[in-house]
Amino acid sequence: MSEELILSEIENNREEYIEFLKELIQTESVNPPGNEKNVALKIEKYLKHAEINCEVFPFGDNRANLMATLNDNFDGKNLLYNGHMDVVPPGSEEEWKYPPFSATVKRKRIYGRGATDMKGGLAAIVIALKILKRLDLELSGNLILNAVADEETGGFLGTKWLVENKLTTIKCDFVIVGEPTGLDPLGKASIVGEKARIEIKIVTNGISSHAAIPFAGKNAIYMMSEIIQNLDKLGEFLPKIKPPMSLSELKENVSIAFPSKEIFEKILSEQPLLQNIIEANTQFVSSLNMIKGGIKPNVIPDLCEAIMDFRLLPGQTTEMILGALRKVINSLGYEIKNEPTGKPEDIFVYLEVFKDAKASYWKDWRKSKELKHFSSIVEKIYKKKPIPFFFPAGADASHYRNSGYCASTILFGPGLATTSHAVNEYIEIQDYIKAIKVFTLFAYSFLKKH
Ligand SMILES: [Zn+2]
Repeated sequence: MSEELILSEIENNREEYIEFLKELIQTESVNPPGNEKNVALKIEKYLKHAEINCEVFPFGDNRANLMATLNDNFDGKNLLYNGHMDVVPPGSEEEWKYPPFSATVKRKRIYGRGATDMKGGLAAIVIALKILKRLDLELSGNLILNAVADEETGGFLGTKWLVENKLTTIKCDFVIVGEPTGLDPLGKASIVGEKARIEIKIVTNGISSHAAIPFAGKNAIYMMSEIIQNLDKLGEFLPKIKPPMSLSELKENVSIAFPSKEIFEKILSEQPLLQNIIEANTQFVSSLNMIKGGIKPNVIPDLCEAIMDFRLLPGQTTEMILGALRKVINSLGYEIKNEPTGKPEDIFVYLEVFKDAKASYWKDWRKSKELKHFSSIVEKIYKKKPIPFFFPAGADASHYRNSGYCASTILFGPGLATTSHAVNEYIEIQDYIKAIKVFTLFAYSFLKKH
């Protein structure tokens, strides 16, 4: 009975929900610098209007996090929904079909930066809270909303800050981060683990000299080039780690979205992007994507800098990567120093961790009744089972899992994962409305009195 009430409430208020999402997209919160407070104030206004307790925690220059709760009682089962308020820069605006902050509606889609990643998911979880309050259903637990800043730059000032400062006395049983998890043509995924992204800067220090007598110096660009040519040996020096889901297991999980294994194999063979995503999930990957060196065409350079991007599997640590990198560099005969300084005649390599993170994985997801129940609600609304999946990029879920706050954390939300951060980012209105239904129905069944 209450389920029907919830679904008809959502159908009757579609226009209001679409307007709310458009307003969030139109509210500037590009990170860097952030400006998430603009969005936090819009959400606060919307929730206060619905008489929901909500607090904004401002920091820095026009930045903020927000926390709201359905009621004041945290004794029962608690469910937490998380959504980030920041978006990545729109890039070159002339490449967009519609201005990136216009939230233009065309052909049942809303276009704009953040439509998918993730103002769509954010609006949907805010609305779920409002619906439960408004329908005044009898519930025994609490629904907590974390609307956060800083996700696109690591989440340390957003989700991590809330976990360490505002959630210390509140125990949570299940967390959903509303990131876009649509994987065309598979339908929705429930993401139970993500890789971590770290950055390491490599600096080669050589000796400068006149290019007419190159042997009087030591060319730092050549040194870097030697290192680059040996990067494929990194794997040999890394401890062997099993991926959380093997290639065959991932394929097995994905194939549940299809009528038969044969159909799935055929579709997979026509989807290079999907093949690559599955492939990236089962292995450690690294790439050198930025390099800088040299001051003049006729001077032997004494300095070359490169930044490498590494994607770690659960169980791999930054120390392991540094160790392997050191072995590769030592095998070339170069000394590695802990400080970037030295005498002009010193030849050495310096390594610096630029960005540090840890992958995370909810290893007991197969046994979870809650996840099973969540999947059945998704299947009911989307007419397709969600696929348990691992994700090749990082997300805020790691701050709940790795801190020990709540291992049972998943990513699930409206939008296609592949349109995140892209030009002409959009969300299907139907997908957005379905997500509101899933978030509200799940919260209701999770918290209702048994
Ligand atoms: Zn996101």
